[in-house]
Amino acid sequence: MKKFEENIRRVTPYVPGEQPSGSDIIKLNTNESPFAPSTMVQMSIASMMPDALRKYPDPDASDLVREIASYYDVDESKVFVGVGSDDILGMSFLTFFNSDKPILFPDITYSFYDVWAELYDIKYEKIPLTEEFEINPEDYKKENGGIVFANPNAPTGIALPKAQVEEIISANPDSVVIVDEAYIDFGGETVLELIDKYENLLVVRTFSKSRALAGMRVGYAFGSETLIKALKDVKFSYNSYTLNVAAIRGAKAAIKDDEYFKGLVDEIKRTREETKMKLKKMGFNCTNSQTNFLFATHESMPAKEIFEKLRDRDIYVRYFEKDRIDNYLRITIGTKEQMNALIMALEDILG
Ligand code: PMP
Repeated sequence: MKKFEENIRRVTPYVPGEQPSGSDIIKLNTNESPFAPSTMVQMSIASMMPDALRKYPDPDASDLVREIASYYDVDESKVFVGVGSDDILGMSFLTFFNSDKPILFPDITYSFYDVWAELYDIKYEKIPLTEEFEINPEDYKKENGGIVFANPNAPTGIALPKAQVEEIISANPDSVVIVDEAYIDFGGETVLELIDKYENLLVVRTFSKSRALAGMRVGYAFGSETLIKALKDVKFSYNSYTLNVAAIRGAKAAIKDDEYFKGLVDEIKRTREETKMKLKKMGFNCTNSQTNFLFATHESMPAKEIFEKLRDRDIYVRYFEKDRIDNYLRITIGTKEQMNALIMALEDILG
């Protein structure tokens, strides 16, 4: 190792799903929407004046914050926006998890949580999900420096009922509790309204899935004024201009086109249930997913083998070579046509 290398921070990064290119590929591996965003989004970006690009964006993204606050009937002082929910989650770890006690999160969950904890040197303890891949609120009633979990959870897709999420929050008044609601538009119960009851609750959301804007990178969060102010202070100590002008305009337009948004979500939920039934007939067992993906295991063929054989046919799903879930596939819900192609390929693979 060269001398200068000794002072380089060493981290094991998060590995995002593959982004293969090619028009014939069926991409069901990163939980993107298979549909285009609202035409209002496209128009709002196309009509941008060059002057808007010349200048820095509004560092507070006030237009977008106002739109989100009004849509969800929340005070603007309780809304924060960022470059995807990853940006907000990473910043939240930095802002809220500064205790000597370990933060808690499930053993099977969004695999970025331990990466941020390692990056910021935050102690953490992974709490095993139950045999049925469920969160047991009792496990979160112990000393901790913070709590974070996805609801519905990923990659299991399983949602924890609101009363049990509240049980976790109310048992932990001395910690910040982050509920990552990246998939909440597809099912499960939000705890958004609890931000007025619990000052220590942060609810994080994204435009990447249900609003079909993963490429735009926009996330948002709701919390008490105390939490949102703390997040803003950290953000402005790091990078004032997080959201770019096109993202601010596009996300605002996406919120405005509510009918389109609801139509997309309904279509994905319908396709999810149809696909689940077909998979069941082929010997798959799927969790009760409340998201835009299915989490499936087959009764006889190993998940890894199915994953590889699908990839040979240009169909990409996600496979995690991890304890407890290494015989499962996470399959994003695509269009009806894409799911039909998946089913046909699986029939071929499984004989
Ligand atoms: N939380 C969960 C549970 C996710 O699955 C994802 C998607 N990878 C994210 C957050 C981040 O999404 P984004 O940064 O696109 O908002």
